[in-house]
Amino acid sequence: MATNDYESGLKMMEELTTDARQIQDQLLGELLSKNAETEYLQGFLHGQTDKQLFKKKVPIVTYEHLKPYIDRIANGEASSDILLVEPLTGFSLSSGTSGGLPKLVPTTAESAHKTATFNKLYRSVMIKHFGDINQAGKRMELMFAKPEVKTPSGLKASAVSTRAFKGSSFKAILPKLYTSPFEIIFCPDTKQSMYCQILFGLIQRNEVIMIGSIFASTVVRSIKFLENNWKELCSNIKTGQISEWITDSGYRNAASLILKPNPELVDLIEDVCSCKSWEGIIRKLWPKTKYIGTVCTGAMLQYTAELEFYCGGLPLVSGFYACSEGAIGINLEPLCKPSDVSYTFLPNMVYYEFLSIKEDCDTDSQNQVQLNAMSHHEDTGPVDLVNVKLGQCYEVLVTSSMGLYRYKVRDIIKVTGFHNNTPQFQFVGRQNVALGVDMERTSEADILKAVAEAKALLDPLGLILTEYTSYGDTSSTPGHYVIFWEIKPKEGNNNNNNGKELDPKVMEECCSKMEDSLHFTYRMYRKENMIAALEIRVVKQGTFESLLDYFVSKGASLSQYKTPICIKSKEALNILDSRVIAKFFSPRTPTQDN
Ligand code: AMP
Repeated sequence: MATNDYESGLKMMEELTTDARQIQDQLLGELLSKNAETEYLQGFLHGQTDKQLFKKKVPIVTYEHLKPYIDRIANGEASSDILLVEPLTGFSLSSGTSGGLPKLVPTTAESAHKTATFNKLYRSVMIKHFGDINQAGKRMELMFAKPEVKTPSGLKASAVSTRAFKGSSFKAILPKLYTSPFEIIFCPDTKQSMYCQILFGLIQRNEVIMIGSIFASTVVRSIKFLENNWKELCSNIKTGQISEWITDSGYRNAASLILKPNPELVDLIEDVCSCKSWEGIIRKLWPKTKYIGTVCTGAMLQYTAELEFYCGGLPLVSGFYACSEGAIGINLEPLCKPSDVSYTFLPNMVYYEFLSIKEDCDTDSQNQVQLNAMSHHEDTGPVDLVNVKLGQCYEVLVTSSMGLYRYKVRDIIKVTGFHNNTPQFQFVGRQNVALGVDMERTSEADILKAVAEAKALLDPLGLILTEYTSYGDTSSTPGHYVIFWEIKPKEGNNNNNNGKELDPKVMEECCSKMEDSLHFTYRMYRKENMIAALEIRVVKQGTFESLLDYFVSKGASLSQYKTPICIKSKEALNILDSRVIAKFFSPRTPTQDN
């Protein structure tokens, strides 16, 4: 990005956030006048474009409400203008792993244009803080594209990330700016792809200036992969020959161009990787890295402790908040701690409304927003972007050029400040992800908080909780919460943690600690024996890898995959249950004075 472009990006950011009210108003006006004649809006507005009427008559909906319309478009129904007038260019396929099945979201030339504007603004902010890294070296970004799916209409559906990787401009800059070759990003075999991406990153270690992936879980997963495979990677670098099990001819060709015997590099990697502790491994292997660029907020916060351990003081940069429904917010202070990250809404992307959440949000000791209870009652009507209140939690609604009207993204945010006239927010959690075995509902944020408290007890034992998920077990009465934990020792690369080595007293205390940290209703129900004791099931190393494989095999994009905080699918549950090595139960009812 030329200096002028970057400065113009920052200037644009200032203008957008200053003129938020007018920009939002104009955007809604344009969307309505463009789409008033669509079947969907006709049904409520009868061709009118009045904004107040829109808010009065058009219902607030979830994806499930719009699905029949979207399915008709995807199935190639001849009638045009079902949801939007602008011709579709395809569909975004959301990962759906945060609580539901993958969703199809229409895309248009206009939405692509908005994404390009978002990227320009985001890059400007990053250049302001880190300089133009494109001039300084390469990015080792772990990228996994998913094959596109052709809908009966002939329109293609693909993950947002895959579409970005496929763009001609990305392909053109890839060899110069990234360590991973194009072929490898598009490999359907994610293990081969991960292996090769790390191999290429190691070979080009002296050029790597930034390491990242969309979500923090992928970066952590890649380091674990390296822990398990560094010897083989070294042997490839020693001989200049890639392993036989890398069968994809595209990769083998790409590797043959860059992989040459390099004994010095092997010595160095062996030296670093055979250290007992992997603390700071990223910095040791990739010494010129300036930062780790990856989303660390929301459900990804659970990975930050491990990532911080591996990256030896490098900043973790959570740059943006985006979803298949639209690119929404940018972190204007990328150097702040993950727990302090706020994103600034971009008023030119979509028209926003906000449904306030009745319960107050609290802030815990790590400055993380916690919802006290999960019953997200909608207070009064929704408010506009510029009318949100500081400190209040909201559910986000979008009306956009993708044919979404008053659509619940199902994310909860908390307003933490303003940049000019535009609110900034902290990501709190997903609305629809909840555990419940009786009348109580426990949010993703509740579970995150409880696990954060409990896992601290592992620290003195030299253990790290690497992944977890939860499940509401109602197979017996009363039902109980099951939390699956994958644990590993902090030191050393031998990950054969064995359930018998875990101190049952500490593990039981972890169960109780979680219960103590859960919300009032949970603790009350436990006391009244309406919920049975919380259980931690410790699973074998690699279990969450198998869970990921399962979701990817079901259509989730690896790049956008997030371990579900709550498990709903039977198959996923079977994967976890078949790998349990130890079970622990809370030995007492939770304390009530939380
Ligand atoms: P997808 O639709 O598959 O692209 O997933 C989008 C979802 O990922 C959002 O609705 C959020 O729940 C989550 N997400 C995206 N960006 C962030 C972020 N910066 N912090 C926390 N969660 C995020």
